[in-house]
Amino acid sequence: MKEEIQVYDNVLQLIGKTPLIHLNSITSGFKGDFFAKVEAFNPGHSTKDRIALYIIEEAERKGILKPGDTIIETTSGNTGFSIAMVSIIKGYECILAVSSKSSPDKIDMLRTMGAKVHVCPAHVAADDPRSYYEVAKKLHQERKGSVYINQYFNELNMDAHFHSTGPEIWAQTEGKITHLVACSGTGGTISGTARFLKEKNPSIKVIGIDAFGSVLKKYHETKEFDTDEIYPYRIEGLGKNLIPTATDFDVIDKFIKVTDEESAHTARELAKTEGLFVGYTSGAAMQGIKQLAEAGEFKKDSKVVVIFPDHGSRYMSKIYSDTWMAEQGFFDTKNQAEAQPVEI
Ligand code: PMP
Repeated sequence: MKEEIQVYDNVLQLIGKTPLIHLNSITSGFKGDFFAKVEAFNPGHSTKDRIALYIIEEAERKGILKPGDTIIETTSGNTGFSIAMVSIIKGYECILAVSSKSSPDKIDMLRTMGAKVHVCPAHVAADDPRSYYEVAKKLHQERKGSVYINQYFNELNMDAHFHSTGPEIWAQTEGKITHLVACSGTGGTISGTARFLKEKNPSIKVIGIDAFGSVLKKYHETKEFDTDEIYPYRIEGLGKNLIPTATDFDVIDKFIKVTDEESAHTARELAKTEGLFVGYTSGAAMQGIKQLAEAGEFKKDSKVVVIFPDHGSRYMSKIYSDTWMAEQGFFDTKNQAEAQPVEI
């Protein structure tokens, strides 16, 4: 049971201090002790609340932002939602340039949260003036008193996790953590958290989860940007087709890759075994743990922390839809049978 019941001045006070939850059955038979940092407990249901609040408050501290000013970003995902939420409470205008590939649900959600959404054509080059990158840049240049969050190339993204996620995990494990396993997209979560933890104990092993179709693992190993590594994949928020400067590759010991299919099944398994209804990348991170355990990465006294970045509700029409799973060819005969509704 929770120890205290508090009253808060506003929703932003609930950002961070997310629980670390012991994984009891999905890890049975693995050597070591496993804990999930469940970021869905943030009020915006993802880890991106931390960077939205931190980056906006840094801009306030530097005197860049005043009430009524504008926050700009290029995302229809978790970061967009978090920025919109912080903007409402702090009295900023929030403008999000999003791709026309974004689902109508996501665009409606952002508009509900008070954001102005510019829908930009998906299939144009990044340097095309119509692309969401260029639209965001132009809006930022034109508006005095605006801040462009630019999460892939903003080191404050990493700093947000250095100052919150890292210290929380250190305290919650009483300094006994031996491994950190986290997805890498912008790289802010893994590198900021790892920087803090490695300052405390350099022997903590940090393992990044990457997608097949992303350049991060190869870049980490070779320092080469290999475009042959780039091809479409389904997991959203994990991996990248560019090298983000928000990632500190030096604090990451290694990357491993996980498939779309296994990650989707592992996310479903987390719901069924641990009662944790989390997002696609949480399934990916847990899939990474399975592969690492199988490869003999962990010992009896390992204390492993895995970060689950967001909530399952954002994936109802994807991994939690049997129809979508079947369309991707992700159900084998056994799983397909399991998915059939039971008639009473
Ligand atoms: N999971 C999800 C669902 C995300 O939206 C992101 C952010 N792109 C990540 C994981 C990766 O986090 P980070 O950007 O901090 O590397």
